[in-house]
Amino acid sequence: MTATIENAMTIDVEDYFHVSALANVISRKDWDKLEYRAEKSTERILQLFEDKGVKATFFVLGWVTQRSPQLVRKIHAAGHEVACHGLTHELVYRQTPEVFREETDVSKKLLEDTIGERVLGYRAASYSITRQSLWAIDILCDLGFTYDSSIFPIAHDRYGIPGASTVPGPIKDSRGKSIVEFPLSTVQFMGRRLPCSGGGYFRLLPYGFTRWALRKINKDDNLPFIFYLHPWEVDPGQPKYENASWLSRFRHYTNLDKCEQRLSSLLDEFRFTTVREVLRPHLN
Ligand SMILES: [Zn+2]
Repeated sequence: MTATIENAMTIDVEDYFHVSALANVISRKDWDKLEYRAEKSTERILQLFEDKGVKATFFVLGWVTQRSPQLVRKIHAAGHEVACHGLTHELVYRQTPEVFREETDVSKKLLEDTIGERVLGYRAASYSITRQSLWAIDILCDLGFTYDSSIFPIAHDRYGIPGASTVPGPIKDSRGKSIVEFPLSTVQFMGRRLPCSGGGYFRLLPYGFTRWALRKINKDDNLPFIFYLHPWEVDPGQPKYENASWLSRFRHYTNLDKCEQRLSSLLDEFRFTTVREVLRPHLN
């Protein structure tokens, strides 16, 4: 253990074909027909968490909840937090507020009916709450969410609010209502703010970068970080889409075979728990 701060471990439960980077080459209408692998890869992550004695927050996509309610109940029964990743993995800034409200409400109720408990947290598909879609925060307040973890305080081609707060805590919606935001973790490096806390950044860059950056957040900033990963990132056997763009293939397929071992090392080096636990001082 290198730090005593408890950090948030999160898994966005979706399959390889839901990913925004492959949306150009995989049609939504084919999702039902594709080889479904998310159950097995999620179960491998659950086993690893059990072996390491770690509790985590699983943001589950509504599509997965409909397909695998027993998987969601298993996550919940193992003592993890179940939270909401929307219904269809559509980017929020491509939806109207009306459609976003309807889909998010349906996916939250679906989860609550499945686990028999209130769902507190929300994460947008591909962190797609940006300056154009900040109206989504008002809707999350209306729907009774206690916290959100969708804002990436960086510049990126698909997401991000450069200059947004990097510190977890309460934010106000446009009407002054309060919700707690846990922004995705970033680190200051050579005068720039870099993402460092999971997903492609964890797989593509050397493990040592993640370790350095996360230690820096815990020790220099004295803050918890939030780490995220997807079940498909520990699934090197998934079908490969060679017709995707070079950048998408690079982001999606690099180091899939090394990811589970890296996650295991990370769990040994840092302390982790659920988002609900890390945010407890801010809730209520
Ligand atoms: Zn997602």
